[in-house]
Amino acid sequence: MLFLNFTKLFMKNILIPLFSAVLLTSCASVNYSYEGKAFKNSLQSITQDDLKKNLYVIASDEMEGRNTGSAGQKKAGEYIIQQYREMGVSHPKPMSSYYQNVPAEFMNAKSRGKSLPDSENILAFIEGSEKPDEIIVISAHYDHVGTQNGVVYNGADDDGSGTVAVMEIAEAFQKAKKAGHGPKRSMLFLHVTGEEHGLLGSDYYSQNPVFPLANTVSNLNIDMIGRCDPENCGKDYVYVIGSAMLSTELKAINEAANNKTAKMLLNYKYDQPNDPQRLYYRSDHYNFAKHNIPVAFFFDGIHEDYHKPTDDADKIDYQALQKRTQLVFATAWELANRKDRIVVDGKNDR
Ligand SMILES: [Zn+2]
Repeated sequence: MLFLNFTKLFMKNILIPLFSAVLLTSCASVNYSYEGKAFKNSLQSITQDDLKKNLYVIASDEMEGRNTGSAGQKKAGEYIIQQYREMGVSHPKPMSSYYQNVPAEFMNAKSRGKSLPDSENILAFIEGSEKPDEIIVISAHYDHVGTQNGVVYNGADDDGSGTVAVMEIAEAFQKAKKAGHGPKRSMLFLHVTGEEHGLLGSDYYSQNPVFPLANTVSNLNIDMIGRCDPENCGKDYVYVIGSAMLSTELKAINEAANNKTAKMLLNYKYDQPNDPQRLYYRSDHYNFAKHNIPVAFFFDGIHEDYHKPTDDADKIDYQALQKRTQLVFATAWELANRKDRIVVDGKNDR
């Protein structure tokens, strides 16, 4: 007759697996919190030195003001791609390179009277570990207004600042991934072209998305975050626009991220339905919002060098640029790693 030792069996088959499961779940939740090492190490990898090094290249005379389709813009694009290669971040799998061609015919049909040459959006991608089909888009435009009468419009703030911020956020996520804490949802780093000619690159992407828009959870768009406007100079602030329009959760997540990290004044002045500047419609996030994708737009305001040849890298406030980049990263971190995808509970009713 077979003798069964119930105590041993209980330990082996029930207690030990139960204990391991509890241990595993608690580890996982600690690691993705704002207090966890993974987040903190990544946040700290966003440095003023990195932002400055990249911005002095992107906004150098060599890039000739990065007009859409120009040789200077293409050179800036090559530099951006080189940075992604160095950090080990590839393009989306369905694409054969980092480039999404934006045809001249598409752009010229939209911007009356212009004859722009072909240009490119640039896409870098980190696949999510648990929900790879759900996409968070971090965007900035890398074109600017070019060279006029021999004078280069370097566009350091507009939008060199957003361009280098997106690269730095990608690097921070990649660092977490290398440490075994990659984002649970997928991250698309989208450098769009043709913004200055009418949000053309983002419009093209939204009509030809690499991943279905229905699976696109949110777009955080950065356009000018390295300066201050006269109303706010000396204050630690950033304008946040549109974050409550389509999802009340997005606004709450952004505010919580700010409380945990940058602790800046979040200025909602331009976030009013009747705002005469109509900034909600004036950068690339709008091409996501119009498809009912929750967006937040990060912006420093209109300043004296806006669209002037004097928008240079030496006028950037690198501490402000770092803090604002860290805020966008912290918001993206929560959007990527939280259990549930954010809800869409608002309407585009402006
Ligand atoms: Zn501009």
